[in-house]
Amino acid sequence: MFNKILIANRGEIALRVLRACKELGIETVAVHSTADANAMHVRLADESVCIGPPPARDSYLNIPSLLAACEITGADAVHPGYGFLSENARFADILSAHNITFIGPTAEHIRIMGDKIEAKATAKRLGIPVVPGSDGAVTTDEDAHRIAADIGYPVLVKAAAGGGGRGMRVALNEEEMSMALSSARSEAKNAFGDDSVYIEKYLLKPRHIEVQVLGDGQGNAIHLGERDCSLQRRHQKVWEEALSPALNQESRDKIGKIVADAMAELNYAGVGTIEFLYEDGEFYFIEMNTRLQVEHPVTEMITGIDLVNEQIKVASGAALQIRQSDVTFNGHAIECRINAENPATFAPSPGKISYWHPPGGLGVRVDSGVYQGYNIPPHYDSLIGKLIVHGRTRVECMMRLRRCLDEFVVDGIQSTIPLFRHLVDNQDIANGMYDIHWLEKWLATEPFEA
Ligand code: ADP
Repeated sequence: MFNKILIANRGEIALRVLRACKELGIETVAVHSTADANAMHVRLADESVCIGPPPARDSYLNIPSLLAACEITGADAVHPGYGFLSENARFADILSAHNITFIGPTAEHIRIMGDKIEAKATAKRLGIPVVPGSDGAVTTDEDAHRIAADIGYPVLVKAAAGGGGRGMRVALNEEEMSMALSSARSEAKNAFGDDSVYIEKYLLKPRHIEVQVLGDGQGNAIHLGERDCSLQRRHQKVWEEALSPALNQESRDKIGKIVADAMAELNYAGVGTIEFLYEDGEFYFIEMNTRLQVEHPVTEMITGIDLVNEQIKVASGAALQIRQSDVTFNGHAIECRINAENPATFAPSPGKISYWHPPGGLGVRVDSGVYQGYNIPPHYDSLIGKLIVHGRTRVECMMRLRRCLDEFVVDGIQSTIPLFRHLVDNQDIANGMYDIHWLEKWLATEPFEA
């Protein structure tokens, strides 16, 4: 087991990882930019190192600074959290060259899954169902038109190097195809320095359903059920739940087994998420995230398994102790992402939190790094916390969530809490009847005052 883990992240996830380390009796090193000197993860860690000025590229993404921090403190492993360097294969390689363990999968697996075309080909080879589309990149416009006609419109042109919803264009018919190709290519070139694109069938009313996996790199892999993350704004998840209201036990077992078997064959190590679009009873792979996800707590709430604890144990070389038959799903959990934003316009709202009263009670978990008097810096993501609620049934979970949202007080800044107060009372949400377009449509037709 490791002696000392450096947590290469900030905010709620740095704290989340720190808690797992403390429970395992492992010493912790926090790193921070000058803007985060007063952050909670810095206060609670055993040691802390300032790694640079506020912009992330000069601090949280600064590999030489992070290496120096490992050197100074003698950390023998690094947990990257999510975002920042968590899916950076080069960072994983550099750490290993310095005999420091990257808590995550191998650099090779990060690389394969980071390239969308290669990821899709790998998924297909491993028996995971994929969205119908081109076999790899399309090079000429003639090829693109022919493939799109074969698949049938509407189609989606996607950047191979894509991420964050960029480099994607829908073509509803043949006339729109040339335009979609050129704008996807130029956006991809600008954002990722790589203009290769591929084509997929565009699904009209899918849900986003993702399967959590855990492997030990020694041939063992299990799945921990799914999360439904269909409530999205601009391809960003807003509300996540487990299990999905759209699946039954049979479809869950089926897709879970396909994914777990695939990860065992790949010899995957650590936690990972296989993301699917789900429409008319069929699953279509879109991508794999080779890291811990923001929404991992909903899975922890229904399985009782601490994913970060498992991640650390596996990274230290331990074989997986949990078998698939040990995994049971208990009740229902929902997570709301609390952002420092205007809940109607989503404009960022950094600044000082003058009053902070999170809810509590049975089945309630608040993962957050903020506190009363904390000044939210303007340099980073607007996520300031996550409210995660568990109930024995989805109905009980929703009742508890409503109660928690009423109790939650955040003053001094604006937050997305009022948005969730509206959503929790919506009939479609109560019925679990929503797809990936639901929230955008609802926001466009039911504007509310913040
Ligand atoms: P990124 O890595 O840029 O986030 P993804 O491939 O994960 O891109 O897709 C992001 C979102 O775009 C999905 O959650 C879904 O809302 C939408 N999307 C992606 N592929 C398709 C598709 N074939 N049909 C319909 N919507 C899609």
